[in-house]
Amino acid sequence: MAQESSNRRPRVVVIGAGFGGIYAAKALGKLPVDVTIIDRKNHHTFQPLLYQVALAVLSPGEIAQPVRSILRKNKNTEVIMDEVLGFDVGARRVHLKSGAEIVYDYLILATGSTHSYFGKDEWAKLAPGLKTLEDATEIRRRVLLVFELAERQKLETGIHPQLNFVIVGGGPTGVELAGAISDIAKLYMANDFRHIDPRKAQVLILEGSPNILGAYPPDLQRKAVEQLHHLGVNTRTEAHVTDIQPGFVMVGDEKIESVCTLWAAGVQASPLGKMLGVETDKRGSVMVDAHLNPFGHPEIFVCGDLAHFEQDGKQVPGVAQPAMQMGAYAAKRIGLIAEGCEAKQKPFRYFDKGDMATIGRKAAVARIVWPFHANWSGFMAWCTWLVVHIFFLIGFRNRFSVFRDWVYTYFRFQDGVRLITGSQDLPGWKTLAHDPSPGENVTPLAMERPIEEVAHS
Ligand SMILES: Cc1cc2nc3c(=O)[nH]c(=O)nc-3n(C[C@H](O)[C@H](O)[C@H](O)COP(=O)(O)OP(=O)(O)OC[C@H]3O[C@@H](n4cnc5c(N)ncnc54)[C@H](O)[C@@H]3O)c2cc1C
Repeated sequence: MAQESSNRRPRVVVIGAGFGGIYAAKALGKLPVDVTIIDRKNHHTFQPLLYQVALAVLSPGEIAQPVRSILRKNKNTEVIMDEVLGFDVGARRVHLKSGAEIVYDYLILATGSTHSYFGKDEWAKLAPGLKTLEDATEIRRRVLLVFELAERQKLETGIHPQLNFVIVGGGPTGVELAGAISDIAKLYMANDFRHIDPRKAQVLILEGSPNILGAYPPDLQRKAVEQLHHLGVNTRTEAHVTDIQPGFVMVGDEKIESVCTLWAAGVQASPLGKMLGVETDKRGSVMVDAHLNPFGHPEIFVCGDLAHFEQDGKQVPGVAQPAMQMGAYAAKRIGLIAEGCEAKQKPFRYFDKGDMATIGRKAAVARIVWPFHANWSGFMAWCTWLVVHIFFLIGFRNRFSVFRDWVYTYFRFQDGVRLITGSQDLPGWKTLAHDPSPGENVTPLAMERPIEEVAHS
């Protein structure tokens, strides 16, 4: 691993092979430096399409690619699969779980963010969040298992619990999960069961703030809610979840039954940010200056979700585009420093092209900033979403197979990757098999209107 020698090239250690790390490593491949990229996974995951794996449209291999194969052509780059446990910033060393230590001249830290259960970590088992391929396959297992267990129980006992899915959090991930669950229940599964009617599944989003898709302009928020209602997904805002238990969610005193609860509510920064011993914000993101350096550390760059970078008085959002742009900027700056001409480089500036969120299989909302300004919703926005996501998927094979699978599932309503692997247990299923005790304050449907009424309105 990196060792000092008299005429050696600068060693750059990149931690994290997400959007920030991969874009940095790709750009560093063209520079006269030696690069070590470290990630605890052997693959880069295209997180914006994780929900399609979670809802059985795509398979994991279509949205992920081994880091080694992405960087194969970069002859100056070594890839290490290991977990970083900490740093010695003074000695410029990185400590790995394997026990190894790596020395750097420059460090690019891009380890992203993770779920936050607001201090209630015990909820994680009952309401999985979506961040990794493992999370996606666990969500897929739970969602598909609901229908299988209901069919089996209907056959055995003549009854089954209400198929209520509750999603905590009404940001883009919550909205995308809700739309996709509604789609698979109503379109893809409708004809596959003999004893239950999957179309009766109900999906509810609980959002603590006053608006669904709070970061979007108000007209797109309204359109998103209309499109969700059209799919039969109900939404409740200013609904603060106070407890999650097997089979139900509490909002204050109200108990909402849930056969499957999913978490899309909070994120916190990777714990490595705090381990640098520099200033962080309340989420644990590292405060960085105009060149993406933590204050007083020109040899360290922090990129992506882990960086707290402010532009025009606002924090740049934790989405893919800033992470890619920051990674490329940090690499370029290291090259300029090596040549002694970093003064030429302007401060980092995020080039905002817009945001998008899908709502089911043919609607989306899109805030477009580049190449023109527009707020779109509906089918047009969905087509734009599709083109953009295909474009940014890394690897020709993935692009081609994702496009082919989308076309196939779109027109045939079939078949996706509806595989259940692993355990057949679902938290709370047994408790849901019984009627609530008399007098108990239970909201079994938690819907403002019956789903059939919404779907046909
Ligand atoms: C479900 C979901 C949907 C999303 N949808 C969109 C979308 O539609 N559009 C959009 O723009 N953005 C979207 N995002 C956000 C976007 O994916 C992130 O902003 C982006 O991935 C951040 O990039 P990053 O490089 O900072 O971190 P990440 O991409 O999260 O990568 C971090 C990497 O660091 C590695 N790592 C972490 N800790 C360690 C450690 N201790 N040691 C070694 N390796 C470590 C991880 O394994 C990972 O590979 C979505 C995110 C999620 C979770």
